[in-house]
Amino acid sequence: MATASLSIDLDAITANWRALDRLSGPGVQTAAVVKADAYGLGAARVVRALAQVGARRFFVALAEEGAAVRQALGPGPQINILSGHMAGDTEMLHDLDLTPMLNSLEQITRHLEALPGHPFGVQLDTGMNRLGVELAEWQAVAPILLEADPVMLMSHLACADEPDHPMNLRQLEMFHEMTDGTGLPRSFAATGGILLGPQYHFDLTRAGIGLYGGRPFDLSQRVVTLSLPVIQTREVAMGETVGYGNAWEAETPAVIATVAAGYADGLLRALGNGAVLWDGDTPCPLVGRVSMDLITVDVTHLKEVPKALDILGPHQTVDDIADVAGTIGYEILTSLGPRYTRRYTEARG
Ligand SMILES: *Cc1c(COP(=O)(O)O)cnc(C)c1O
Repeated sequence: MATASLSIDLDAITANWRALDRLSGPGVQTAAVVKADAYGLGAARVVRALAQVGARRFFVALAEEGAAVRQALGPGPQINILSGHMAGDTEMLHDLDLTPMLNSLEQITRHLEALPGHPFGVQLDTGMNRLGVELAEWQAVAPILLEADPVMLMSHLACADEPDHPMNLRQLEMFHEMTDGTGLPRSFAATGGILLGPQYHFDLTRAGIGLYGGRPFDLSQRVVTLSLPVIQTREVAMGETVGYGNAWEAETPAVIATVAAGYADGLLRALGNGAVLWDGDTPCPLVGRVSMDLITVDVTHLKEVPKALDILGPHQTVDDIADVAGTIGYEILTSLGPRYTRRYTEARG
């Protein structure tokens, strides 16, 4: 079988949620961020597993993603839409009971006119300048808006993965300035913010990457294993080259395994001539360029060519691979393509 297998440990995800929930502290709820199909791992299975251990609030980027989460969970859990109330979303927000985080005066007007009485939150811009209502606008609309009883006021940190960055405190002060005295539930921290400490937690934290085993939550359990089938092996003589652009040349006679996954599956081209795959505990260097559907791996030193090689596993995390490619774990996870067979493991089977 030439389909690579992506194993997703749902017990590790739920354990990571529990750990982040403990870190969030007593009296603070911990929401699960499951945008982009739960960071590429499959939102339906992930949200059901999380709901079973007590997660009640979920965040996605788009209303369409919210619809998929509602379908997986049924009525009850709160599903929040970070992009807010976009034109054309009204019916979906209403019919599927999705809660938009309103980001602008335009969205606020749209929401209050189209869906009066329908729950919403407000996203405030505390300095990231990406999404959210700015201070001056907020001061103008807050008195009216607070009467409509938002379910929460939220904002997002720009530099939470750098604990000593002065931006964190600046944004914290701005968030206090914009929300103190409103009496409304507040949400400020994603994974990085949870690790910054209790003054960043407020009422609801929003855990994303930490659930999936990524930095900066260094104590997280590993979630993904990616095992890639070897589909051909060949012996190359000294001086022969491998792959596009003759990008690797054998300095000694070598045995090269051709493995069925490429950049169309999220193995970024930047991994060429740099990454390592694993046969159990033995590292095997990726040689030559990454093709669309294939990579080539030097297995000269193995006694036997294995049926598959791991690129994500006990010896190599999404962040390790991200470091080789010059990117972040988030991009590695969300790039894992649709061609992998996703296999889910959980204790109760
Ligand atoms: C993606 C996102 C999160 C989750 O962030 P992580 O770093 O993955 O924990 C939380 N809040 C907002 C607004 C986001 O866009």
